Amino acid sequence: MHNKSIKELASGLRSGEFSSVELTQAFLARIKQHQSLNCFISVTEDLALQAAKLADHRIATGNADLLTGIPIAQKDIFCTQGIKTTCGSKMLDNFIAPYNATVVEKLNDVGAVMLGKLNMDEFAMGSSNETSYYGVVRNPWQTDSVPGGSSGGSAAAIAARLSVCATGTDTGGSIRQPAALCGITGLKPTYGRVSRYGMIAYASSLDQGGPMARSAEDTAILMQAMAGFDPKDSSSVDMPVPDYQAGLGVDLKGLTIGLPKEFFGDGLSGNVAAVIEKAIQEYQKMGAVVKEVSMPNLKLAIPAYYVIAPAECSANLSRFDGVRFGYRCENPQDLTDLYTRSRGEAFGKEVKRRILMGTYALSAGYYDAYYIKAQKIRRLISEDFKKTLAEVDVIMGPVTPSTAFGIGEKMGNPIEMYLSDIYTIAINLAGLPAMSIPAGFAEGKPVGLQVIGNYFTEDRLLNIAHQYQQVTDWHQRSPKGFE
Ligand code: GLN
Repeated sequence: MHNKSIKELASGLRSGEFSSVELTQAFLARIKQHQSLNCFISVTEDLALQAAKLADHRIATGNADLLTGIPIAQKDIFCTQGIKTTCGSKMLDNFIAPYNATVVEKLNDVGAVMLGKLNMDEFAMGSSNETSYYGVVRNPWQTDSVPGGSSGGSAAAIAARLSVCATGTDTGGSIRQPAALCGITGLKPTYGRVSRYGMIAYASSLDQGGPMARSAEDTAILMQAMAGFDPKDSSSVDMPVPDYQAGLGVDLKGLTIGLPKEFFGDGLSGNVAAVIEKAIQEYQKMGAVVKEVSMPNLKLAIPAYYVIAPAECSANLSRFDGVRFGYRCENPQDLTDLYTRSRGEAFGKEVKRRILMGTYALSAGYYDAYYIKAQKIRRLISEDFKKTLAEVDVIMGPVTPSTAFGIGEKMGNPIEMYLSDIYTIAINLAGLPAMSIPAGFAEGKPVGLQVIGNYFTEDRLLNIAHQYQQVTDWHQRSPKGFE
């Protein structure tokens, strides 16, 4: 059952081949069996079985959606009413959310069955899932390697068939990078397409929730349920949501693909480059036309991001003060002691580093030199994309410079860790949609192809991924031991 697509599962549920309760039990058993991957922070077994029962009833009465009764899991950054929501931090280890994030509400409404809350980098800061208070997640393709981050639990759980699909969030690459390193499909939607309400904020002008699954088709189905205007999120965009599944049948003849030369320079490992080149040839066989393009400001993306994201995080995380949410130190001497010790004891090293960097960049003497400058660079990067996307339909390139790296390998060197998002971060600065598609393997580890489109062209990106998945089977492969 665990290798079936959402459509296959939905038809099995309708024909009575199995019930949602049975399906949910099968996934819960797999989660238990593969606990050593550490994908889940919380497994909500009883609630899942209750939801499955309701879903079975709904299916029997004919009032069901494709996702009704399908086991899914939520990244632990999305607030779930009455259920612990930790954001991967000791700070929120005892936090029970009083309300549901809009994304959670929407998935509950269609009757999807939540198995639990997925592990992630602390407050979504990281590229390897090693900054989580709940420990590192292991990559099912090679268990001494990282799954990527920050949605590492989501990607690893899908690759290991512990959940059919999952939610993720992407501030600088956190859906695409783990999707690439775990060999699954992930979509970072246009900023504003999926509600951020109830999604714990890291860098609000960059954060965007999105779907992760094995295939583009499953990703499209999950996206359909997640997307749409939300009056509770002031940056949510009030535009109709296309029928993503209906958009999956378009052939790619005449599609123009831009290949930025900056994506293929030094720093990209040879074996990843070879896989990407092959994937692009596959698109040419389907009738796409390739054009070399240049986006000279891309090289400024990492430095600009590491001013803007920490600046926003320093403001967002000021709410965790030992008073309003989560952790509080013991026996505070006075208010200052309460603030400083609660924050000092409950935030991890990477989160503290970001808060310090951000506070510094926003301080009176440095605001113009760092923050304003970074915002100007952000504009230049957006203009590079605008110009390029006026010449070509989509941009393609790698998601990551290398395949999954070893656990512990980059933790001592933050700059090297930050560089692992070199191909994903610029897209968030511009607010564009992009996907990671399984495109092959290098030394036994998955490689992802990135496809970047213009604003609100998620339907086109999903179709481009789907067409590729009609002629390749990379997305169907399962890691050894998880078949
Ligand atoms: N790795 C990047 C960071 O650490 C991006 C994380 C994300 O997209 N949430 O900030």
